[in-house]
Amino acid sequence: MVVRVRIAPSPTGNLHIGTARTAVFNWLFAHHNNGQFILRIEDTDLERSRPEFTQNILDGLTWLGLTWDEGPFFQSKRLDLYRKNVQVLLDQGLAYRAYDTPEELDAMREAQKARGEAPRYDNRHRHLTPEQQAAFEAEGRPSVIRFMIDDEQEISWNDLVRGKVTWKGRDLGGDMVIARAASGQEVGQPLYNFVVVVDDIDMGISHIIRGEDHIGNTPKQILLYQALGAQIPEFGHTPLILNEKGAKLSKRDGVTSISEFQQMGYTAAAIANYMTLLGWSPPEGMNEIFTLEEAARVFGFERVNKAGAKFDWDKLNWLNSQYLHSMPTAELTDLLIPYWQAAEYKFDWAANRPWLEQVAALIGPSLSRLDEAVAMTRYLFVETVGFTEDAIKKLRQDGSVAIIEGVMDALAGSESLSEASAQDLIRQVATRLGRKEGQLKPVLRVALTGETRGPDLIQSWLLLHQRGWDTIRLRAALETAQG
Ligand code: GLU
Repeated sequence: MVVRVRIAPSPTGNLHIGTARTAVFNWLFAHHNNGQFILRIEDTDLERSRPEFTQNILDGLTWLGLTWDEGPFFQSKRLDLYRKNVQVLLDQGLAYRAYDTPEELDAMREAQKARGEAPRYDNRHRHLTPEQQAAFEAEGRPSVIRFMIDDEQEISWNDLVRGKVTWKGRDLGGDMVIARAASGQEVGQPLYNFVVVVDDIDMGISHIIRGEDHIGNTPKQILLYQALGAQIPEFGHTPLILNEKGAKLSKRDGVTSISEFQQMGYTAAAIANYMTLLGWSPPEGMNEIFTLEEAARVFGFERVNKAGAKFDWDKLNWLNSQYLHSMPTAELTDLLIPYWQAAEYKFDWAANRPWLEQVAALIGPSLSRLDEAVAMTRYLFVETVGFTEDAIKKLRQDGSVAIIEGVMDALAGSESLSEASAQDLIRQVATRLGRKEGQLKPVLRVALTGETRGPDLIQSWLLLHQRGWDTIRLRAALETAQG
């Protein structure tokens, strides 16, 4: 069998981590089976769908490396196909027009509630006579199209994740609306459960892999496949992503869209890797750090968990740091430049690439997110830095003035500065002052960077020296030290 799977996001918001994770599983399954991964934009909700959300979804999938083989197809451009299929069901007597007014439906539900029953459509317009229909139409009532659901049946499927799942026909809420209200003989806008099935049939989808929140739609959709005379695909419902409290991860939990993760400085590879681990476990012996291609080689539903997957920030941060620590410097530099630019640091980005690469190499091993680079390297991009309280204390300690003056003198006498000559210079000044290097270095750090802690001192010094800023900083530190 040719494997054809799809991701079908609705552009009513930015690409959500849950949708992206579903896309990952579809992509892995397609690639494992040499199949096709199709992108379909479900934009039939005209009020809530926006082109900028579609763009965000396309950009996010692309950024993650979830390339699609066909599409994007837009449901809004396929309305004729849906209407034609509604007509097929009407013609076969499998669907009918229902003329209930909203008030009548409300009253029906109220009565059900009063009897302690679950709300459902009681199929009251299933067998209207042509005269009754004509009378409703003469009244000017619009009609929805309802698909008949037999209460006395069971619908089951063998879910790729959850095994056999069975639903009773009577639990599906009565005959379902497949097209919104329209007047006369028109067919109103076709609705989600119907258009999804028409599309999945038309696109030859073999496996429907989607979030567990769609499980209640599956029995209805299976009935529609049968009614339309199509082969029923396989279904796999993947576990939801949960927050720390074990509830479904939602906007209220803060960051949930892929573009936000991107802005926060996570790499695409780390996010894709982490999403794969949210609900799937690699086979024994396989490293937890892998590319999508590596995961695709061994991916299968036997290792997808049934239980919800808790979103774990610590784990994501750890994974991201692993990617950043092992990233080639040139690539890391490319990723960092936009963050420095967004922080409005002034620099000739194109002309002084080697300096930027040195900065990237310096901080790379301590980054767990790209955005941390902004604060971590501020002292290298801003000509004058202030001194923190601790820094001032350090500068005003006995002996600090002599240390700063000693370094300034030695620096004035040296032609250029290299790692070796900087080390040497520190050693000489320490000897001359009768102090230990360990006493000298903290003072020098504070003088150069304004802070008591930071990236490697010698490297920082060299970077500042290349900008001609080390003497400026030492002078300012001396003034502060002398109070
Ligand atoms: N458009 C649906 C959603 O965004 C997906 C439908 C499906 O996968 O069947 O949740």
